[in-house]
Amino acid sequence: MSKATEITFTTVRNTGYGSAHYGACEICGQSTSVIYCAELQRVYLRDNEEKYLSPAAAGTYGDMHCLLKRHGTLRRDEDFERVAGTKRVTAQQFEELAKSAMMKARKA
Ligand SMILES: [Zn+2]
Repeated sequence: MSKATEITFTTVRNTGYGSAHYGACEICGQSTSVIYCAELQRVYLRDNEEKYLSPAAAGTYGDMHCLLKRHGTLRRDEDFERVAGTKRVTAQQFEELAKSAMMKARKA
């Protein structure tokens, strides 16, 4: 069993393809040589204390400039280790994510 935490943030990954494959940037409509995918992620907690990510919304495909403008802070998707098809969150990453989620809540 696992439960959703309140912690969400946005990751970004290089799709490895440009607009020839994915089409134009979803935000500005321009063609670009590299399309990135930004995804809102939520942290989940398993009974055995393992933490992992699962997308909380459909991804946005676009150039880095537009994605940064829309989402502000983006974390590198590849910084989260893949284990059996899920993206693991280490204890250290979890601590850092929880801290920045708290600061965000305080600002709001
Ligand atoms: Zn764009």
